Amino acid sequence: MPSQTGQNKKDILIIGAGITGLSAAYKLHGLFNVTLLETSSRTGGKLHSVDFRGKKVDVGPDSFLTRNTSAVDLASKLNLSEHLVAPARQGASLYSRGQLRKLPIDLALGIPTNLISVLSSQIVSPLSALRSATDFFWPAKLPSFTALLDAAENTEASLPPVGYPDPSIGRLLNKRLGKETVERLIAPLIAGINAGDINHLSFAATTPELARAVSEKRSIVLSLRNYKRQASPGGKLKTTTPPFLGLNTSLASLTESLTENLLAAGVNISLGVQATEIALLPRDTKHWEVSIRQNNMSEEKVYFDGLILALPAFATADLLAKALPEIASLCQEIPFSSVATLLAAWNADEMPPIYGTGFLVARKPKKLITGVTTLSSKWTHLSDTGEVWLKISAGHYSDDRVTTLDDETLTSAMIKDTKSILGIAKDPIENLLFRWENAFPQYNTGHIERIMKIDSMTAAIPTLSLAGASYHGIGIPACISDGIAAADKLSSALQ
Ligand SMILES: Cc1cc2nc3c(=O)[nH]c(=O)nc-3n(C[C@H](O)[C@H](O)[C@H](O)COP(=O)(O)OP(=O)(O)OC[C@H]3O[C@@H](n4cnc5c(N)ncnc54)[C@H](O)[C@@H]3O)c2cc1C
Repeated sequence: MPSQTGQNKKDILIIGAGITGLSAAYKLHGLFNVTLLETSSRTGGKLHSVDFRGKKVDVGPDSFLTRNTSAVDLASKLNLSEHLVAPARQGASLYSRGQLRKLPIDLALGIPTNLISVLSSQIVSPLSALRSATDFFWPAKLPSFTALLDAAENTEASLPPVGYPDPSIGRLLNKRLGKETVERLIAPLIAGINAGDINHLSFAATTPELARAVSEKRSIVLSLRNYKRQASPGGKLKTTTPPFLGLNTSLASLTESLTENLLAAGVNISLGVQATEIALLPRDTKHWEVSIRQNNMSEEKVYFDGLILALPAFATADLLAKALPEIASLCQEIPFSSVATLLAAWNADEMPPIYGTGFLVARKPKKLITGVTTLSSKWTHLSDTGEVWLKISAGHYSDDRVTTLDDETLTSAMIKDTKSILGIAKDPIENLLFRWENAFPQYNTGHIERIMKIDSMTAAIPTLSLAGASYHGIGIPACISDGIAAADKLSSALQ
């Protein structure tokens, strides 16, 4: 049960102890009495490591983008900077047209910036590479995404501009670059990161930086080439930080360290406690009444001055259904997809060399797996075992087989796909399956408008914040930033 030890300090409840909720708590502790509620038996949410063959291995995310510096900053505050490591290898392949082919290095999130390298990669047929060149001669300009993205970033704006364009990635790119290039090259990359379907994912919501870069330009390829040049280490936005980083103590040690720090600072973290309903009481203080259920099924009500819901949107929708039905129904509209990851180890002499950090699988051949990360080559700290360790992924928005197949069938289907792509006969020495049900929020067309509505409704309630991967970005740095923004909002309201 959460204790409320308030001595002049206001009481804040954060529901959900993933990276978002923990980051919010880290920002607020000391200023307020902070309680964190988590329904599962551990903190960290999607950040999770297990003991695999004697080492700590991440089964969820294992790296993050450094462009948004919030994860690097957080690691530094937690004295983890010395453990930050860049992947030991660069580059990856794509399984397309019956074999593994090196991905061109000059892609902007999967979108080509150089059609010669697309042609030489042979990922698409020569005719399709040629078809993509129509982008250079397309008579109409690309849509203007700037007004929508500006409005979304402006916390005062409550609605998007009238008649704003919000095409899906597929709809925008198919006609310019041709269906085969989009399906075989772009879809596995962009949709792979989001476990999504490019025919539903909003171009502006999923890749806002690219949408800004191509806004009102003539050619997608040329404007992204320019964007890449500016973003490269030698370009205008000079940086020496590698684009991706992980932790040699496992990425999950970020949330483990956050948890230890919060406990040491006196934050009350209650595990195995599920929030079941929220009521807004008409009084000046402690107007949030939260019904909670403990593991032993005992139920009670607890009262707080401020509330942060750092939960997947569908869980927030359930909690707010009675108190704030309009916000709840907008949250309920955000779709989610499920994935599975399989850790698998082979003896090194049974495995052919795998280029770079692994490979993605084009959706066309209808394989179950969507990608493979070669953990033992990507991370130096996992490379000294004489074995090849793979993290194999399956499942996306348009393929729910990971939720319908039983463990044994799913595991053997994932291994079968991997063996057939790599041309190996032997089964792994050991494997471990993880299911991530409803793990990836889908930023489908209409997402930005929906989030703007949610933001404007919650702006009118100063003691409530919604935060996490469902809203302003699914990557770990975006979740940390969102948790901090949620904390700042409550700080201003309650101090
Ligand atoms: C397999 C996988 C791989 C990924 N890879 C990457 C990557 O490489 N890089 C990257 O940047 N991102 C990656 N992501 C995305 C990123 O990990 C997530 O978007 C992010 O961790 C979400 O954090 P969160 O705190 O918003 O939500 P969550 O981690 O989902 O945390 C929410 C918490 O709320 C709890 N909860 C839910 N309902 C209740 C309730 N009623 N009461 C109490 N508690 C409740 C849940 O148990 C959970 O712990 C990956 C995600 C997955 C699933």
